[in-house]
Amino acid sequence: MIKYSLCCDQGHVFEDWFASSSKFDEQSAANELTCPECGSSHISKTIMAPNVSTAAASAPAPSCAAAPMCGNMGCPSMQN
Ligand SMILES: [Zn+2]
Repeated sequence: MIKYSLCCDQGHVFEDWFASSSKFDEQSAANELTCPECGSSHISKTIMAPNVSTAAASAPAPSCAAAPMCGNMGCPSMQN
């Protein structure tokens, strides 16, 4: 999921989640995006960088048990 900061042609800024960047393009091209404040369908992305939410970003780092070759000398699994 990608969260975009969007703005309408009236200058209202809001945020919405999209499955992917291409999904945003699709919905934007189909005028399916509307401003929650004024209902305008003239929506564009703000220049703010999108927040990307991925499983890799939210999941904890793999444990050393799963990655014994991590190379971290402080790692408990390296001291066996
Ligand atoms: Zn608006």
